Amino acid sequence: MKKYNAFENVQEQLKEIKEIIGLEDNIFEQLLKPQKMLEVSFPVKMDNGKIEVFTGYRSQYNDARGPYKGGIRFHKKVNVDEVKALSAWMTWKTAVVNIPLGGGKGGVVVDVKKLSEAELERVARGYIRAIQKIVGHDIDIPAPDIYTDSKIMGWMLDEYEMMAGRHMSGMITGKPLNLGGSKARGFATAQGAAYTLDLAVDKIGLDKNSTVAFNGFGNAGANLAKILFDKGYKIIAVSDSKGSTVNCMGIDIDDLIKHKKTTGSVVDYKGSETLSGQHCMEQDADILIPAALEDYVNEKNVESIKAKLIVELANGPITNHADKILNKKGVLIVPDILANAGGVAVSYLEQVQNAYALYWTEEEVLGRLKEIMETAFEEVWQEKENYQTSMRMGAYALGVKRVAQAMRDRGKS
Ligand code: GLU
Repeated sequence: MKKYNAFENVQEQLKEIKEIIGLEDNIFEQLLKPQKMLEVSFPVKMDNGKIEVFTGYRSQYNDARGPYKGGIRFHKKVNVDEVKALSAWMTWKTAVVNIPLGGGKGGVVVDVKKLSEAELERVARGYIRAIQKIVGHDIDIPAPDIYTDSKIMGWMLDEYEMMAGRHMSGMITGKPLNLGGSKARGFATAQGAAYTLDLAVDKIGLDKNSTVAFNGFGNAGANLAKILFDKGYKIIAVSDSKGSTVNCMGIDIDDLIKHKKTTGSVVDYKGSETLSGQHCMEQDADILIPAALEDYVNEKNVESIKAKLIVELANGPITNHADKILNKKGVLIVPDILANAGGVAVSYLEQVQNAYALYWTEEEVLGRLKEIMETAFEEVWQEKENYQTSMRMGAYALGVKRVAQAMRDRGKS
């Protein structure tokens, strides 16, 4: 079996949408690769006094619609092709939710679980120093992603502002509230997905008694599980990198969050069975939420999926091959570039607040987020109907056409 490559996945998706929308060759070729890709290596002094050299990347995929935008991932599996793929998905994502930004992504090859807090801070500061020349509020704006959070954004902002000798809070988003962060940014990805899930549930006639399974219980996954639990959904399975916890009667998510805080994982949770990670999707859940990494649903496990609805909280969790099989089976998939766009949408709202130095209440931010997500959902649905295709290709049609038009408007065609 061929080894999964996220960037090949991206290029195949682009070829598919090119045929569907009839995209001209010269734009297609420009969209097949990132405009710029920077690889850096930087030294960090570890607690034992020794220097370790870390590798990082920043891919600037396309800025036709505005400055590059996208998170920074800290993970031991980060690699060039993954970062490129994630930056392409950011490009379509910002276009789908129609915010004036392009797409970019960064990453550092690091296992954060092996670092002390002080080492983590030095890695964060070292990385932003290494890429400082190519970021800025009107060039490229980083944000959190897997294993990065508001605290890390605060260190990066501080390092950048010290180098610049001035305040520039809009150069990064997902910051702590005290440094110009936005209310609701911390759970925006999950909240945005919840708005799309509500609409998708209505479209296929599922009700609130539906059962839900999660793969991934990080920031996005845990927050969405909590939102759905509070709405009355029955969450029957949750998995993380250590395994799954399964309870067909439903899991108390408030309690599971506490359990994860104390033990570091969802496994060994009282009253539930602990099984291998893959078991989660073999459950009879009506709704499946992939909330971890790419390549989660692939040719090995796609046949076991029984869900009627999949909402992609993760980026690229389903391979193209598996996606085709699920579409044939009639599973409705709310694709990543729509479903998880709430995070970057509130990042944009954060930048707007930074520009005006005027801050909104949580209610105001959520009101705007809801409008952005619901508009995007309806527009994607419209494209799906127009082209008689999947929701994913509907979202690609909407996003890629918007990026292509910006390129034509710039005379790049
Ligand atoms: N990392 C998030 C994503 O993949 C958020 C990016 C951002 O806020 O710029 O969409």
